[in-house]
Amino acid sequence: MVVSILSIVTFLLIRERGSVEMAATRAASNIVQLIDADVLRNVELYDVSLRGLISASQREDLKQVSPTIRHMALFDRATAAPYKGNILLLDSRGDVLADSASVEPRKGNFADREYFQSHVDNPDPGMLISRPFRARPPELDWRISFSRRVSNERGEFLGVAEAAMRLDYFSQLFKSLNVGRDSSVNLISRDGILLAQEPPRADNLIGQDFSQRPNFIRILREGNGSFKGLSNNLQPRLYTFSQVGDLPLIVIVALSSNEVFASWQRTALVVGGATGALCLGLLWLTWLLCRELRRRQSAEQELAQLAATDALTGLDNRRSLDQTLAREWGRAQRSHSDLSLLMLDVDHFKAFNDRYGHPLGDEALRIVARVISDNIRRPGDLAARYGGEEFAVVLPETDNEGARRIAEHIRLAVERQPPIRDGTSPITISIGLSTWAGTPKSSLEALCSMADKALYQAKAEGRNRVVG
Ligand code: GH3
Ligand code: MG
Ligand code: MG
Repeated sequence: MVVSILSIVTFLLIRERGSVEMAATRAASNIVQLIDADVLRNVELYDVSLRGLISASQREDLKQVSPTIRHMALFDRATAAPYKGNILLLDSRGDVLADSASVEPRKGNFADREYFQSHVDNPDPGMLISRPFRARPPELDWRISFSRRVSNERGEFLGVAEAAMRLDYFSQLFKSLNVGRDSSVNLISRDGILLAQEPPRADNLIGQDFSQRPNFIRILREGNGSFKGLSNNLQPRLYTFSQVGDLPLIVIVALSSNEVFASWQRTALVVGGATGALCLGLLWLTWLLCRELRRRQSAEQELAQLAATDALTGLDNRRSLDQTLAREWGRAQRSHSDLSLLMLDVDHFKAFNDRYGHPLGDEALRIVARVISDNIRRPGDLAARYGGEEFAVVLPETDNEGARRIAEHIRLAVERQPPIRDGTSPITISIGLSTWAGTPKSSLEALCSMADKALYQAKAEGRNRVVG
């Protein structure tokens, strides 16, 4: 019962843990999808801005208008993107042609930027997302840039339209999600650079390369999904991740298993503790009950033994003899086997008692009893004290010849006993023997009385002998 209680509780707790994990994974994948959608929308806004900038910059009529109007026309669609850095239009040498921050473009050259070189080398007009980089002084914050190549009709390189996005945008977005103190939401580029993390770690990891970490390699391989793994500082985590559309970005929600399972652990502790206590209590009660039953059983056995035993000699008593005789008589009748009965009586015992006293008489009876037991071997045989100085031996499945041999052994062994004390006279016994050997119309009483008569005859013939 204890085992089944424990199995049921364990099963329920494991199932509960499974559903907690499933709920956490579902919540995390909701977060991931939310971020996914938001990031996609914003990247699209950047793209719209860049395309707007490029198409406006190629309009001949805009070259005639005032710088302020031209500025408005170039950048009017660029206002919607949140946390945007500046949007720049660069010429084919990397110098700034137009700047969303001011009508008078800043002085600067961006030809050394990776994206610039990519656009020079690659005529593909698609949008390029850069690796994260630090902005130039004085801002120095982390950004990524979205850029498109500006080409003429013949596909020749004219410059680059570039929009920088502050990574603060992601931190701000992630901040609105409450994932737990020890858990985190992360944005990581496909080449393994951590772009944003919320809540931020004390040892700011933004910009670090995670491309060689086993978890990241797995995430990159699987694209979307979730798994359980260890964090860099070997804490158990529940990772849920998804690639952000077609962008080279991956959102990862890393939930701390300790946090996810905290309330389950409390429940498990309480339920487990209570169940354990219950089982211990049950075991203890069972043990008590078993001990009590064993005690009672052994007391009953002891009582039964006492009730069947003769106190002086330790042989079975008259009651037990009567039961055994009745049982063996029935069995002999059923199986048509022989049944022999010996009646033994100590010779001149009254005289022995009178001469040496009762205590020595008792001793003599104990010796006779021991000799009788020593001479019956089979498990079914029974020796009993019939009363006073008389004994009886029941010998199932023993014919008259066999019984006589046993009786003779007993008689001889008693005779050969050394004197009880120096000078006491030797003790002898007379034995009457009767055997039932399938005679019909006989009875147990007849068997007993025949043994009795044989004993009487043995006494009459001079004692210390076997008759029957
Ligand atoms: P017989 O040879 O004819 O059997 O003579 P007997 O003296 O043995 O016969 P009787 O039946 O006259 O005497 C039995 C005596 O056995 C009587 C009593 O003193 C003694 N006796 C009976 N029970 C006990 C007992 O438990 N302890 C002792 N010490 N003596 C007993
Ligand atoms: Mg007698
Ligand atoms: Mg006697």
